[in-house]
Amino acid sequence: MSKRFRGKPCIYCLTNPSTSTGDHVFAREFFPETARADLPKVPACQPCNNEKSRLEHYLTAVLPFGGRHADALANLQGLVPGRLAKNAKLHRELAHGRGLTLTEERPGLRVPTMTLPFDSDRLHQLVGFVAKGLLWHHWAVALQPHHDLKVVSLTKFGEESFSAFLGLNAKQRVRSNLGNGAFSYEGAQGTDYPEFGIWRISIYGGLKLSGDPTAPMEEATALGIITAERQFLQRPNVIAIFR
Ligand SMILES: [Zn+2]
Repeated sequence: MSKRFRGKPCIYCLTNPSTSTGDHVFAREFFPETARADLPKVPACQPCNNEKSRLEHYLTAVLPFGGRHADALANLQGLVPGRLAKNAKLHRELAHGRGLTLTEERPGLRVPTMTLPFDSDRLHQLVGFVAKGLLWHHWAVALQPHHDLKVVSLTKFGEESFSAFLGLNAKQRVRSNLGNGAFSYEGAQGTDYPEFGIWRISIYGGLKLSGDPTAPMEEATALGIITAERQFLQRPNVIAIFR
């Protein structure tokens, strides 16, 4: 068993000491068994591990339904049935909420697509953990109590303004993809202070999520995250961007 994390502070809460095994920033269960080597790991305590695992348990069962990537399909066929069999409540939830909608695959072509009820809050919470993990993994930076982060689902519209942020001056940049692109991400560290960062994370090649019943099918291309001083994130002009 690895001891490299034992005694280090948990980078998610900064309060408790890490377990000896730490935490996979991206849960292994998101990937087929052949694509689980060398996933990033960070120091994490047991309570944060447990909280993150609960989110991962839900999302590893649900997200493959919305993905376009080959690994999402492999996951859907190979692993999801077993997960749902073990979780009768989630299985019922998904079966009851299932519906069909027409989505525009490309201009002029609308195809029937299965929809599932989806709790995007849980995805945003998990992505918050992931952003903290990536900050530490790549730049050895942990968010302090006066920092915070915001997560937003990027639609085609949001993507444009967010890409402009990513293009701003940066102290360091990182770009990576895991599991042959099942997850891909890029990050830029701001020049003002080390904890200031912008991330864009794409899951399974982009997800079709119908979180809002009044806007039945909005395609989220990726998730955008900003990490910054809490005061900065509370500015009205910043809130307007991260609605
Ligand atoms: Zn913790």
